[in-house]
Order: sequence, then C-alpha cells, then structure tokens
Amino acid sequence: MIGNGTVLNEWKLREQMCEIGRRVYNKGFRISEDRVLCTPTRISKGFMKPDDLCIIDMEGKQISGQRKRSSEMLLHLTIMKARPDVRSVVHCHPPHATAFAVAQEPIPKCVLPEIEVFLGEVAIAPYETPGGQKFADTVLPYVKDTETILLANHGTVTYGTDLEDAYFKTEIIDAYCRILLLAKQLGRVHYYPDEKAAELIKLKPNLNIPDPRLRLGLENCDLCGNNLFREGYGEFSPEPKVYVHPKLMEQAPVQIPIESRISPPATSSNGSAAPRYNAAPSSNGQAKTGELDVEALVQTITDQVMRALGGAGR
Ligand SMILES: [Zn+2]
Repeated sequence: MIGNGTVLNEWKLREQMCEIGRRVYNKGFRISEDRVLCTPTRISKGFMKPDDLCIIDMEGKQISGQRKRSSEMLLHLTIMKARPDVRSVVHCHPPHATAFAVAQEPIPKCVLPEIEVFLGEVAIAPYETPGGQKFADTVLPYVKDTETILLANHGTVTYGTDLEDAYFKTEIIDAYCRILLLAKQLGRVHYYPDEKAAELIKLKPNLNIPDPRLRLGLENCDLCGNNLFREGYGEFSPEPKVYVHPKLMEQAPVQIPIESRISPPATSSNGSAAPRYNAAPSSNGQAKTGELDVEALVQTITDQVMRALGGAGR
C-alpha cells in the first residue's frame, strides 16, 4: 500500500526496497582477471552507496575504496580462484538455510523439482572461525561440484556466472529450507521417486546447467536417498537426522537401545549385576534390541525408586 498514491512516494519506496534488498548480502563480483568489486566491512549496509564498494585484487589486497573490504572476502576469492568460470559470489546468513547449517542437516532431494534443476546437490562445509583463509578453504572440497554450499553454524555461499545468478541460488535455497520446515510442521515430507529425479537432471544440459551426476551416470545412482557429498569429499559428512529419506530408514531402522532409555543399577538390591530386561537374542539368532520385557522393566524402575526412597529416608 502506498500512502497518498503519489508517484514520487512510490518511486522512493521502490528505491528503498532495492536498497534494503542490497544490504543483506556480502557480494563479490569479478570485474576483470585480477580485480573484484566487493562490499565493505562495518557499514550499515541498508544505506550503502555505490561509492562505498571497494575493489580488491585476487589476493584480497585493497586496490581502491574508502572503506575496508569485508573480512569474509577471502571466501569469495577462494571460490573464484578454484572456479574461473565463476564471476559472482554471494555470502549471507538467511535464516531458514542457516537453520539447516546450524542443525548440520543435509538438504534433502526429490522433494521439489525446482531444486533438482537449479541447485542440484547442496553441500555442507565444516565449521571454521569466519574471516581467515582456513575458513575460506572449508568450501574447497565441494566447490567444483556444486554452486550452493551451506557453511556449518554460519550461513550460505552461492555463486555463478553473474550477480543475479548467484543471488538467485541464495533465494532458492532459503525458500526451499523454509518450505521443508513448514512441511515438517504439517507432519511429513513426501519424496518423488529416483526415475523422476533422473528426468529432471536430464533437462539440465538444455538449460546449460552442469550437474556432476550426469557425469557419474544416473542409472546406477541412488538419486533420492543418497548424497553426493557423503563420502570422498573430506571427513565432514553430516548424516540426515530430521529429513531422512524412507529408503535410508529401510536400510537402517532407527533403534533406540534399551540401555539408553533406562540406566540399570550398577548392582541390584540382591547383589547381582544383571538388569532384568530382555535383550537376549531371539530364536533365529538375531538380537531383538527393540523387544522389551515390560514386566522386568517395571520391576527395575520399582527397584530404583524404592532404593532412592530408602536412601532419602536414611
Ligand atoms: Zn558470514
């Protein structure tokens, strides 16, 4: 709604909206082989003017600009050096995607076709103190095979051929994470099957969007349940805890060990060590870890309570 309906006010509002849109992100844009235009540090970015931007070289040395470059610019440079095709990098801390980065929850696939096509596999880079080269290097294992990376306990970094392309990926990943969180509130997330994922990935060459899975072969690939970045991409490979594909649940059903549900007494009241619940192997030789002798469990709890009461009475 625009107050008074004057054209001038509307234009001002438009400008303001653009400005606010600009402030949220740390951006770098490669303007030549050895020059990158970037956002400065310590500025109320809501009122950042074109003059406030600075120019640095590929080593991070400031070439021009009144204000000092952002400390996180080494991340941008590291990505541009590893990927000469990348001209623009956007780094920020959008709340929904950052929630996944904080939970270190891998981004699930086979949920929304748009994600398959425009983002593909999303990686999570391990946590490091922001600012230095060590922080920047955390993305290196993934940088060639994706253009959307969650930075554990920090935020996101996306990149592409131009500013809009890089920014677009940030917007998509945050919107997707929001949808996932909302869907979970409704109860569950449904997944479309591997064949449908393959259909989407096959569209990508026509759209000029690369995907490492085309190179690896789609036929033998477990597209929905697996994660490209699980193994062979460094030691950090967070496992899904909340958005677990049904296939993974079949492979490894979630079992809550009885021992962790109730801590048995070190010695029971009659001096024997064994807690009285049933975790014995079944007749077919497989351990029935999920099976519980309820009666024995009740007895164990009763014993514990009685002992606690007895101790308090002494
Ligand atoms: Zn940051």
